[in-house]
Amino acid sequence: METPAAYEWLFRVFAFVLGATVGSFLNVCIYRLPLDLSVNEPRRSFCPACKKPIPWQQNIPLFSWLFLRGKCANCGVKIAFRYFAVELLTALLFLAVWLVFPWPIAIAYWVFVGLLIVATFIDFAHFIIPDEVTIGGTIAGLVASFILPVLMEQDSRLRAVLYSLGAAALGYALLWLVLEGGKKAFGKTRIRLEAPTPFSWVREGEDAEFVVGKESGLWSDYFARESDLMLLHCDEAQVDARHFENVTLQLRYDRLTIAEESFPLDATDRISGVVRELQIPREAMGRGDLKFLAAIGAFLGWRAVFFSVFAGSLAGSLVGLTTLALGKRSWSAKIPFGPYLALGALVWMFFGPALVGWYAGLLAR
Ligand SMILES: [Zn+2]
Repeated sequence: METPAAYEWLFRVFAFVLGATVGSFLNVCIYRLPLDLSVNEPRRSFCPACKKPIPWQQNIPLFSWLFLRGKCANCGVKIAFRYFAVELLTALLFLAVWLVFPWPIAIAYWVFVGLLIVATFIDFAHFIIPDEVTIGGTIAGLVASFILPVLMEQDSRLRAVLYSLGAAALGYALLWLVLEGGKKAFGKTRIRLEAPTPFSWVREGEDAEFVVGKESGLWSDYFARESDLMLLHCDEAQVDARHFENVTLQLRYDRLTIAEESFPLDATDRISGVVRELQIPREAMGRGDLKFLAAIGAFLGWRAVFFSVFAGSLAGSLVGLTTLALGKRSWSAKIPFGPYLALGALVWMFFGPALVGWYAGLLAR
């Protein structure tokens, strides 16, 4: 192997530093986009706690966080490790992209990597992926394919854009099918409790606090659409003044049905009892994931769409099952899908062609 020339090292350092700087901007996006704050105004970053603008000398990617030991210089409040992690991750991925791909492709993939990082960290924190990232990302992918038809493995710009558009549509449609088709099969989770467990539903204004054993949550968080149904198989149940034994409570967002009798929840103050088994509606993914997969398709093509769904589901269920088994996650906790789609897309970007070659080799034997 040849020793890289000095200027090549210079470019590598540049890619890393650029990544850290972009990562610093991505932190701003991750913080501001879900809150509907502008990413341009104010231009200067500010401390989330004391709102004091951060002077430039305290806003140097990677270094500042280390030197200030993760604290705001003004008010001393802890600054999340996430800020450092995003800068380091972006820097390393920018460098890796630079080392693996020819420079025009590397620039397109830098944009793409930035989108993946923003989507991942926003989805983990808020269970949404903003349109700026998904729809904006799809448009960016189409533009990139026009400028660089090689992204879609095409010679003609027109064909590349059509391929990119087709892959985006495929991504959206594929997850839409999974979402709609899987609603019946995966749209609910059945939980058999180890022992009969006390539960309560207590109205609080427009919403209610729903508690099962030690877990509690907002009632509205369990329901994504009107048809969603929650079932509680109870040893006993109390609905305001009424008492029931060995019943199944059929709960929708706004009403409770026991046998043929219906109780509107806005006229109910308190439901309690002892539950043995419950079935909760479960949304496997959100609409943001559909648009996010479209953006992945627009940048990486149709094969990446299939791969990201496959790899993402696999990684997501592994993490979900492991954390559940280790007791790090309760059964009612939501799992975002976006970060796993992003992981699948990243694996495809770096190793896709190699994986296809390896699999074709297996088939040919
Ligand atoms: Zn502060």
